[in-house]
Amino acid sequence: MGILIDYSCEKCDKNYSLKQGCGKLAIFDIDELIHSIRSKKEKELLIELKEKHNGTLKEIPFYEIYECNECHTLHSKQEYQIEYDDNKIHIKKHKCPSCKKELVKLSSKDDIDFEKYKCKKCNEFSLGGIITFNLFD
Ligand SMILES: [Zn+2]
Ligand SMILES: [Zn+2]
Repeated sequence: MGILIDYSCEKCDKNYSLKQGCGKLAIFDIDELIHSIRSKKEKELLIELKEKHNGTLKEIPFYEIYECNECHTLHSKQEYQIEYDDNKIHIKKHKCPSCKKELVKLSSKDDIDFEKYKCKKCNEFSLGGIITFNLFD
């Protein structure tokens, strides 16, 4: 089960949600992961790791919460690790969709300070509104 954090912008009323954890549709092996990936480049990389380097999924992928230090925005992305060539690990890194800088995973997602982040639409520190936590599966 995962947590869904809903929040909105006080200026433009845009709603956002962040996912953390994994739902019932958890991915248990590399084939399912490859199937679920939309990026062609990443898909090809995973296929290569699987077919040429005995790549396997190290653990069930989880949604984690990330921030962009450059844009001050929040993102939730699926993190996964592929073990290959006996002891090497490929960890999926995520880039900010607007500035392409690598996103940083938040260590304590329990208390995200929404005032520190900007609305992706207004580009202002205007997040707040009602922040709710729900379960998803
Ligand atoms: Zn806004
Ligand atoms: Zn950015």
